[in-house]
Amino acid sequence: MDLFEYQGKLLFGSYGIPVSPGEAVQSVEDAVAAADRLGYPVVVKAQVLTGGRGKAGGVKLANNSAEAREYATSILGLDIKGHIVGTVWMEKASDIAEEYYASFTLDRSAKAYLGMLSAQGGVEIEQVADENPDAIAKIQVDPVIGLSEEACRDWVKRAALNPAATEGAVDILMKLYKVYVDADADLVEINPLILTPEGKVHALDAKVTLDDNALFRHPDYEQYDAIQHRDERELAAHKKGLQYVGLDGSVGVIANGAGLAMSTIDIINQVGGTPANFLDIGGGANADVMAGALEVIVSDTNVRSIFINIFGGITKGDEVAKGILEALSRVTIEAPIVIRLDGTNADEGREILKPHLSDRLQMQPTMLEAARCAVELAEKASA
Ligand code: GDP
Ligand code: MN
Repeated sequence: MDLFEYQGKLLFGSYGIPVSPGEAVQSVEDAVAAADRLGYPVVVKAQVLTGGRGKAGGVKLANNSAEAREYATSILGLDIKGHIVGTVWMEKASDIAEEYYASFTLDRSAKAYLGMLSAQGGVEIEQVADENPDAIAKIQVDPVIGLSEEACRDWVKRAALNPAATEGAVDILMKLYKVYVDADADLVEINPLILTPEGKVHALDAKVTLDDNALFRHPDYEQYDAIQHRDERELAAHKKGLQYVGLDGSVGVIANGAGLAMSTIDIINQVGGTPANFLDIGGGANADVMAGALEVIVSDTNVRSIFINIFGGITKGDEVAKGILEALSRVTIEAPIVIRLDGTNADEGREILKPHLSDRLQMQPTMLEAARCAVELAEKASA
């Protein structure tokens, strides 16, 4: 889950990283009032989950109330790369002497955290990496050992920032590392990290990606979830503990395991259909899980047929079959269902399903045949 800049800044601020005072608002009137309170000049910043807002006209410096009104009006509702601006962050403007880049992320192949620091900030780091890779100082941090101040200081030295920025940068990077670890983030990024003419180092932007798999350790992240406009189907599935991704086709997909779910999407496409979603019910395909999955799928009005693709491993076919029947007795389903059941105890499972088969509930011997059948049914229903 990505955080908006202002959410990232509030998080950074709670760790003592210097950020500018500001207010998040949703209307022009509130924007002007916030700007008047903060004192001019004020930066009006679009809050969207994409980068390059500056270039897209989503970051503007206002010198008075009239300009604050003008920019809040033009930025609220602005479309930045398909993201419509619903919130602006009004921030007291800073004077900038230099712009740097700083981030922590995960280096999977090294099984370590990767810190990146550059004296060339303000532009996209990919561009620096392409044109001037030596301008990025990297540090690998062993997650077990952590980041020592000594190592951090050496890293800052290698990045060749202005010497006036050394102490401030070390202090911020130590805190940024702590945020990264404590928050179970996949990415924390400050671009630009600025040096002011007065010699203060300061985070002028904040990008934070949280690891969704760690959300259970952070009940407070609900606040972010509530604010972000996630696909409603995804939110409903998320609450049931299901891995769901909404797509825009007509065949609903339920599979056990992310790999099988992806293959199911592929095969639906291959036989000329379009998947309505990706739903992985994981290993425990009992009645509750199956009923929850079907509920999520039928809440999508685009669904014309449902393909349940189960390959039992630890999951047993007879339990899956019982789960499907019980789920069907609980959830009303308009769309016809096609089942492919294979793997452990598949024969027992098929026997259980057999007496219940009809036009509405079909079983196919292979994944390919089941996909064809589900796509055909979806096309028939759409015709
Ligand atoms: P991004 O384009 O989405 O990365 O948005 P940023 O928050 O990084 O802002 C883009 C650029 O606007 C920064 O690189 C700065 O050059 C400029 N900017 C942002 N805040 C201020 C500020 O307080 N004062 C000044 N002078 N420039 C700012
Ligand atoms: Mn930025």
